[in-house]
Amino acid sequence: MTLDGHIKTGLAASILLLVKLPEADLGISASILPYVVFAFAIGNIGPDFTEFGGMRHRTHTHYPWYYVGFISVAYQLLLPLEFVGEYATFIWILIGYSAGCLTHIVCDIPYGKIPYLLPNRPVTLCRIPFDSVLNRVVEHTVVAVLIVVALASPDAAVYFFQSQDLSAPFLAVHP
Ligand SMILES: [Zn+2]
Repeated sequence: MTLDGHIKTGLAASILLLVKLPEADLGISASILPYVVFAFAIGNIGPDFTEFGGMRHRTHTHYPWYYVGFISVAYQLLLPLEFVGEYATFIWILIGYSAGCLTHIVCDIPYGKIPYLLPNRPVTLCRIPFDSVLNRVVEHTVVAVLIVVALASPDAAVYFFQSQDLSAPFLAVHP
């Protein structure tokens, strides 16, 4: 996917997470949720910006099992901390970033080489050219699906009304 595509899909996925995570009961506290989702949004462009030196494009940085492994280990570290505290916040932010990187890799799948089995062996399942109409269709379809799922969620209304605290003016008029 193009950089623009990763930014758009990353922001759309972040909106979905903001709506869904409070209900998911993962142990993440509401006070750190915006930071974790922000790290997730950055993670969506992470793999393409961490290819240092002579590293080949879409090898180690796009190896999904590094991120899956890290998230699994990090979540285990959160258990004894009961998900709260400074260390837990730091770990949550790294988990958010890693989840963003995984989203990036999934979005790269229709565009060619991804190292599914070995980090240095990218495999092409299908290849959509960046300058094709199909590229735009794929990018915008992903964005649309993420936004529609977020907005169609009953949690979206709850999240919106709670954050707006619409009861305040009502209570002021009707104490
Ligand atoms: Zn990439």
